[in-house]
Amino acid sequence: MNRQNPPKGIEWTRVPGDDGELLPGYTWNPTGGCMHGCTWRMPDGSITECYAKTIAERFTRAYSQGFEHHYWRPHNLNAPLKLKEAAGIFVGSMADLFGHWVPEEQICQVLDVMTEAHWHTFQTLSKFPIRLPAFNPFPKNVWVGVSLPAGHLMSQTGGARALKAYLRHMKDIKANVRFMSIEPLWFDVAPVFEEWLLEEGKLPFEWAIIGAASNGSRVFQPDEGWTGQLIDLLDAQDVPVFFKGNLEWDDWREAFPQVA
Ligand code: SF4
Repeated sequence: MNRQNPPKGIEWTRVPGDDGELLPGYTWNPTGGCMHGCTWRMPDGSITECYAKTIAERFTRAYSQGFEHHYWRPHNLNAPLKLKEAAGIFVGSMADLFGHWVPEEQICQVLDVMTEAHWHTFQTLSKFPIRLPAFNPFPKNVWVGVSLPAGHLMSQTGGARALKAYLRHMKDIKANVRFMSIEPLWFDVAPVFEEWLLEEGKLPFEWAIIGAASNGSRVFQPDEGWTGQLIDLLDAQDVPVFFKGNLEWDDWREAFPQVA
């Protein structure tokens, strides 16, 4: 497992412990690789790819068959059990654990370790939410996340349509905390959530992460109107918001959900 060093790490995995103090944050990758092939067109016309893919292509020994391949790493399975100090652990920073290519048996083994390592808080993140309800109910110490849709240069219309489908699957997830990673905020998501609220009355997640888009060292801030409307909507629904370090916004948020 890799310990995170905020602000460069994945800040949102440093969740509060029982005493309210932030726990150390780690990433854990019992699986590796991802076949979603996400790419985004930046406002200046340049195209950026998934950060994990960029990293994987630097570590060719660990990703000998490229990033768009499934790697099962059973030797990493017990790492959280060896870590006795309570931590926040992001599972699959270099993968989508629930991707359609991952055998169910492997996902079950990872979930078993999360159940056994009950003193940690685990966070998963997927762009294949249709599969998530099959693993209900999730262990109490697992926060189940879904990322904003993004395929290969997906259009904004396609993103909005896919987001609505994602919300339908999220509604069926049984977990203590469901969260949505809206990072990067690359299209206007508030109207999709508004439409959902009109039909369903309640958002199907308890926490949201919002971030800007980046391409290498260049950061592209989302449209201010998109961000403002989204934050207003989440506030009105009492959904706590955590900002990624690359977002520029005056009213800074690093809130976490209340966990029963
Ligand atoms: S789902 Fe995540 S890990 Fe997979 S390609 Fe997209 S951004 Fe990368």
